Amino acid sequence: MTAQESLSLLKDGNIRFSSGRAERPHQDESRRIFLDDNGQNPFSAVLSCSDSRVPVEIIFDRGKGDIFVVRTAGNLDGEGETGSLEYAVEHLNVPLIVILGHSNCGAVTAVVDHCEAHGRIKSIACRIAVTVAETEHVKPSLNHRDFIDACSRENVRKVVEHLRLESDIIREALEKGNLKIAGAYYHIRSGVVEWLDR
Ligand SMILES: [Zn+2]
Repeated sequence: MTAQESLSLLKDGNIRFSSGRAERPHQDESRRIFLDDNGQNPFSAVLSCSDSRVPVEIIFDRGKGDIFVVRTAGNLDGEGETGSLEYAVEHLNVPLIVILGHSNCGAVTAVVDHCEAHGRIKSIACRIAVTVAETEHVKPSLNHRDFIDACSRENVRKVVEHLRLESDIIREALEKGNLKIAGAYYHIRSGVVEWLDR
């Protein structure tokens, strides 16, 4: 499958989901048995936020064995997340990685509101804080809600770029034309996934 075909499956699935026409494919018992016999062959990888309002297979109207999902607060590419995505590229041959941010992201909001981070989530807060500072510099006059929105989008764009820089496996797959990375933004209220330009 090409990256374009993979992207089309995700786009079509999200249109079905957000317009109340979900088909819920690949969710029955026969799919379980098929996957157990044949192993997985997902058509895309998605790095999304862990937020429980962003259930990846549901919002793209897909089922078991379709999407290789990596989730972390703030949809950041830490060591484990990048390694997981590399596995999907190198061993499962996914043609597409989607970095999926979303509206009203708690991780981004907490950093914007200067909430004190405790424990290991500090590493996530520190990375988002860089994005927040940069966004503040470029877009200083946005209201609170629009500013959080802008920071979340910029966070997605930075992860798209960061993955390319940090991972040899991903960069080589991109250069060979075997992989594309897309940024996207999920609107919790409407259910619509918006595809972001670079
Ligand atoms: Zn979030």
